[in-house]
Amino acid sequence: MFASLSDRLSATFKSLRGKGRLSEADIETTVSQIRRALLDADVAVPAVRAFTSAVRERATSAEVSQALNPAQQIVKIVNEQLIEILGGESRELAFAKHPPTVIMLAGLQGAGKTTLAGKLGKWLKEEGHTPLLVASDLQRPNAVTQLQVVGGQAGVPVWAPEPGNGVGNPIEVARSGVAHARDKYYDVVVVDTAGRLGVDAELMQQAADIRDAVNPDEILFVVDAMIGQDAVTTAQAFADGVGFTGVVLSKLDGDARGGAALSIRTVTGKPVLFASTGEKLTDFERFHPDRMASRILD
Ligand code: GDP
Repeated sequence: MFASLSDRLSATFKSLRGKGRLSEADIETTVSQIRRALLDADVAVPAVRAFTSAVRERATSAEVSQALNPAQQIVKIVNEQLIEILGGESRELAFAKHPPTVIMLAGLQGAGKTTLAGKLGKWLKEEGHTPLLVASDLQRPNAVTQLQVVGGQAGVPVWAPEPGNGVGNPIEVARSGVAHARDKYYDVVVVDTAGRLGVDAELMQQAADIRDAVNPDEILFVVDAMIGQDAVTTAQAFADGVGFTGVVLSKLDGDARGGAALSIRTVTGKPVLFASTGEKLTDFERFHPDRMASRILD
């Protein structure tokens, strides 16, 4: 991820090396190289616009430090703007004052929700919580079994549809799962939900019904970072249809151009909380904008 963007940005910085000061023309050339690099990385236009105008403004303003040469100044500004576009400060998961905390996962089929449920379960357990995973994806064949498998690997129990707790009805499964967590003192419930291959009205309604049934503290929109600009369109559909409080970028280990990661905050206004970086349960991390920015500029 980001390999080509990293190369393009470092070529831009290299071309400024040795310059004693930056002329207006230098700044314009630099800004336009950055713009092209971001667009080629599949970053959404509004995010590119915000990014480049901030770089231009800061590079031309008097804020520039005397201690840095022009190339270093541009690197510093780009680094800070990358952090900004990635969301600034990293945000913690919001836990309920009165447990259980309910975390609902939403997103397209194949986005990585079920895998993420296992990863979150494992991470929560390591953080000292007692999580319960709830299998409300009754759409995709095997989703329940898959959740049971990842739950088993993570050592986290799974509430699956069985007679009496909502067979065939994902909303009932979610509701009974949360009630079970309350009874048995599980302090965090992760609800896996169904995702179709494309955004559709029925899916959105089902997710909205689950939301209304369990009143989540967090709705995490899980999005495959490999799908580029489509990630932004999908995010907007989920924001309108269900709403969400945070984003999880999955498949950040892929070789896509990384545009989704750089666009999602500007386009949705919601922070990225976690990143999924592979198929194994350990391929999971909290999302830190500053660390991601340094990876891009490394
Ligand atoms: P769901 O339909 O949203 O529940 O998606 P799944 O959790 O079933 O994931 C779909 C596919 O993507 C599976 O083959 C996963 O192993 C794979 N996958 C999930 N997360 C990642 C990730 O971060 N990186 C990679 N490379 N593959 C992933």
